[in-house]
Amino acid sequence: MTTRVRYAPSPTGLQHIGGVRTALFNWFFAKSTGGKFILRIEDTDRERYSDESLQDLFDTMDWLGLDWDEGPEKGGPYAPYIQSQRFDIYQKYARELVEKGFAYECFCTEERLESLREEQKSGKSSHQGYDRHCRDLSPEERERKREEFRASGKNPVIRFKVPLSGSTVMEDLLFGKITRKNSDISPDPVLLKSDGFPTYHLANVIDDHLMKITHILRAQEWIPTGPLHILLYNAFGWEVPKYCHLPMVMGKDGQKLSKRHGSTSAREFRENGYLPEAIINYVTMIGWSYDDKTEFFTKDELKKVFSLEKINKAPGVFDYKKLDWFNGQYIRKLQPEELRRRLLPFLQKAKLCSDPPTAKENEILTGAVPLIRERLKKLADAPEMIRFLFEGVHLNDSASLIPKNGSVEATAGALQWLYRFTQAFFGRSDEENEAALREEAERRGVKIGDLLHPLRVAVTGTAVSPPIFETMRLLGAEPVCARVKAAADLLNAAGRDGN
Ligand code: GLU
Ligand code: ZN
Repeated sequence: MTTRVRYAPSPTGLQHIGGVRTALFNWFFAKSTGGKFILRIEDTDRERYSDESLQDLFDTMDWLGLDWDEGPEKGGPYAPYIQSQRFDIYQKYARELVEKGFAYECFCTEERLESLREEQKSGKSSHQGYDRHCRDLSPEERERKREEFRASGKNPVIRFKVPLSGSTVMEDLLFGKITRKNSDISPDPVLLKSDGFPTYHLANVIDDHLMKITHILRAQEWIPTGPLHILLYNAFGWEVPKYCHLPMVMGKDGQKLSKRHGSTSAREFRENGYLPEAIINYVTMIGWSYDDKTEFFTKDELKKVFSLEKINKAPGVFDYKKLDWFNGQYIRKLQPEELRRRLLPFLQKAKLCSDPPTAKENEILTGAVPLIRERLKKLADAPEMIRFLFEGVHLNDSASLIPKNGSVEATAGALQWLYRFTQAFFGRSDEENEAALREEAERRGVKIGDLLHPLRVAVTGTAVSPPIFETMRLLGAEPVCARVKAAADLLNAAGRDGN
């Protein structure tokens, strides 16, 4: 039997990183078993649906390189794969359940249901949920209601007859047997709404069956819907697919991952410059491990070694620091030219490079890559690290030039000397320049860092920069000397003002 799995997102918001994990687990499970990965769009909730969410889903799949064997655009033997295009199928099967006596039409008005809810809220009724009013209508009464509805052009909703006694068992590959009393299942959920739209339960079960899904890998939060779905499979007389619910993804504080912890949407991760290969690797390792020690896996390796047996039952923890570290590792694995190519869009977004980049911009970026690759955690950090290479430095505050415990006068003096130093710098080797700096520091009775600090701030505008000698060489003599001169003048002026 070929395994057939599906990722079945509802496009009602940006793709959550938890959804990405579900997609990855399904995708790798399909690949590692030589099976098929199906993408199905569960867009029956038309109120919460948005085109933007659907586009975001496609962008995310594209970014991560998760292609599908069957699904939207591509098609396949069970097309269409978009639920809103399958409404006639759901109607047909809902009617079949009514005919077989597993479901029934409910004619209750919204007012009646509303007053029922009010009663339950106020404690006047011990019932929870729908009171099954229409379940046992006499055939005459039912016919009368039908007529009434037909005459006014309305359609009854169709509800599922949840058995009143007994219990339902769900077998889960990870969590084992999950038993639920039928009396604890929501009383007679709606399968088909009066406007002909199916609910999630109906559409999901029908499609998983018709699309011959063998394994349902989905988030743990869907466990509660499992027993109802099994009752539906039984009512149809269909085989129940295998379930494997995936443990929650938590923040480090043990709470469900949310915005409070950091980025949660795939789009944010993409825009912050996480590499898809790092996300794929890191997110797959949340709640799954190969051997408790190997951390780095390429996508191709995961396609071979992924297995359900190694999923951890305990909730997975999303550690943002660890991801940053992972991402940094992946950045350093890239060839410089490849890193340059991936950085370019971020520099364009920051308006430091044009689109397409000029030859000069390309040259600067190529030179900058070796200077920043060791420190980069996210691609989006790059523009601020190298802005000074593309733009002049504008120090509006002379205080930033002064090293810790330094004075205006001493720093002004140091900058005078540094100006002469930069003029000589380009005609000497790094060793000679270093020796000159050391000598001068000694002469002044300061640490070498007290000279490097104002130099760095003058040249780059920040106290943290790539290696300063390499940076200066990349910038070239003219801007470097001009910037140090400007900084020296600024501090002189500050000294004169008595600041
Ligand atoms: N459409 C559901 C979701 O948004 C699918 C749940 C399932 O996989 O059954 O996650
Ligand atoms: Zn009713």
